[in-house]
Amino acid sequence: MDLLALGIGAGLVGLVTGSFLTVVIDRVPAKKGLWQRSACPNCGVGIKARDNIPVVGWLVLRGRCRACGERISPLYPVVELTTCALFVLVALFIRPLALVPAYLYAAGIGVALTAIDARTRRLPDAIVYPSYPVLAGLLTVASWASGDWDALLRAAIGGLSLLGAYWLVAVAVPRGMGLGDAKLAGLVGLILAYQSWGVFAVGALGAFFLGATWGIGVMVRNRGGRRTTIPFGPWMCAGAALGLAFGKPVWDVYQGVMGF
Ligand SMILES: [Zn+2]
Repeated sequence: MDLLALGIGAGLVGLVTGSFLTVVIDRVPAKKGLWQRSACPNCGVGIKARDNIPVVGWLVLRGRCRACGERISPLYPVVELTTCALFVLVALFIRPLALVPAYLYAAGIGVALTAIDARTRRLPDAIVYPSYPVLAGLLTVASWASGDWDALLRAAIGGLSLLGAYWLVAVAVPRGMGLGDAKLAGLVGLILAYQSWGVFAVGALGAFFLGATWGIGVMVRNRGGRRTTIPFGPWMCAGAALGLAFGKPVWDVYQGVMGF
């Protein structure tokens, strides 16, 4: 029963957070303020509070502006539902409980950065930079609560090594990875390595596996024609989610096979 209440609570907080993230996704790349009221980008009419209810508002309006009938992107309800689902999973599966705030925060910026990078090929510093002190602070509080300082040290090493590895690739192959990817990689390394080196390995390699699979799919569809670049931030975030969800069992199997 307690778990049920925790799951429902996290889901509601996730919907509201997701609604806020749709504003972040629209306005941070455009360098607009986050706190004015939302308006239709087509006709400029302010969005009524009852139409602003996460997911429900979009469904009631059937994805169209109430004033002018312009289509409203399905990205909005998708972001809200994804954030909701991730918040429920984090609240139910991330333990000890003291770690939940850090991973809720990571899930939130992961959703925002995935959508922004896919749309604009940018990972805004305005989100990435403040996330270093925020995540470091939240993980430190968690270690203070649990007494697990080894995890915090591992997180610092993991964050620095992934930042360094991506930075080297960005410098060596400027057409591939960007410095924006390297800055995000430090955050990904931090949250993965805090869990364990197995989670870190699966999460870091998972990004390349997912990105390469998608890239091959795109190339096949384009019949090897025009060179297409793909934004890598979404794959780093998806890889991190994969590592957090399946890193431990995958690592256990790997160690078993290798006979450690
Ligand atoms: Zn409108």
